[in-house]
Amino acid sequence: MRYSYLTDLECPKDGRRYDAGVPQKLCACGSPLLARYDLAALRAEVARDDIGAGSPTLWRYHALLPVGSSDAVVSFGEGMTPIFGLPRHGRKIGVPGLVVKDEGTLPTGSFKARGAAVGVSRAREIGIRRIAMPTNGNAGAAWSTYAARAGMASLIVMPRAAPEIARKECAVTGARLYLVDGLIGDAGAIVGRAVANSDWFPVSTLKEPYRLEGKKTMGFEIAEQLGWRVPDVIVYPTGGGVGLIGIYKGLRELQELGWIGAKLPKLVAVQAEGCAPIVRAFEAGAEHAEPWQDAETVAFGINVASAIGDFLILEAIRATGGCAVAVSDTEILQQLADVGRRDGAFFCPEGAATLAAVAKLRSGGWLDGSEEVLVLNTGTGLKYPDTVSANPPVLPIGGSIPMLD
Ligand SMILES: *Cc1c(COP(=O)(O)O)cnc(C)c1O
Repeated sequence: MRYSYLTDLECPKDGRRYDAGVPQKLCACGSPLLARYDLAALRAEVARDDIGAGSPTLWRYHALLPVGSSDAVVSFGEGMTPIFGLPRHGRKIGVPGLVVKDEGTLPTGSFKARGAAVGVSRAREIGIRRIAMPTNGNAGAAWSTYAARAGMASLIVMPRAAPEIARKECAVTGARLYLVDGLIGDAGAIVGRAVANSDWFPVSTLKEPYRLEGKKTMGFEIAEQLGWRVPDVIVYPTGGGVGLIGIYKGLRELQELGWIGAKLPKLVAVQAEGCAPIVRAFEAGAEHAEPWQDAETVAFGINVASAIGDFLILEAIRATGGCAVAVSDTEILQQLADVGRRDGAFFCPEGAATLAAVAKLRSGGWLDGSEEVLVLNTGTGLKYPDTVSANPPVLPIGGSIPMLD
């Protein structure tokens, strides 16, 4: 058994292949590149049950990851996040089979740790020492953290309005950090100019091929944790869409290996009404999404006006019979409060958006209520203290509580 069965990189648009042993960015045609593996050899040499004997982290899937040896792995023990039911909230919104995969328990508090763990490990392995990226906060925090662990330098640019905790995570882990009075796209333009003709390697969403490989482990884990089967529906809060594209890629690889059956979950992309380019493109039957003007939402991680992987997101949704749905900030905050009170789960706003989508799809009849629906809570609510308000009464010392039943 090899540590990794990575072979090369492939352009999903024109099929061109690229050497995976040296740093690569986009295909010459401008499309993201996808990592490919020798699945036939893997199938012959690795059994599904071997996976269970691996570490309790996402590195248990190392054969299907791009990192060539265990020595190159940069890790805080990430992965294998819990899946649990939300029975009371699920019943209330008419979907008793509602479960969540809670990514809030990962290092740095969001699922961005998956992309950073694999992306940083692979970058260092192929000789990259300095990484640069635009971010809405969580990705920058995760890449800065993993870069520090790898002994690499990081340059991060984020919108001034990004959650303040992300700045602090970057500061504490030693990133060169800049804020911009604008959106993530504006940050991306600044990073692009800064890294041109330098040895800083840009690791923007899908502009290098390995962040996606980290995120596809969500798909692997969902299948393995459910006993090598998939739920009926997976609902994902979609910004750049790497998580959704990754889940789809991961599940397709498991299918090709024969580790899961023919059924795939319907993939649902959730966006905020204030930034819904993918929803608009889905409804229009388009292959690409037009940039969204004046994007704004409380769910900062999905405030992405233009996604380079738009066509891959739309393909994953359509190929699985899924859909794309937009929800309002009011609905998001209501769901965040409701699920916390009913089932004791502190969702991030992006995660709460998936619950709002489930409620909407149920009331609109797209879900009939019999399905097993898995939502991704992509980060911990603890990273967004300002989304909830708490103003409890203050008692004087020696004071008493009026009524207690
Ligand atoms: C980045 C982010 C998202 C969106 O992820 P993509 O895979 O880029 O679509 C969702 N939720 C949170 C908390 C995020 O940080």
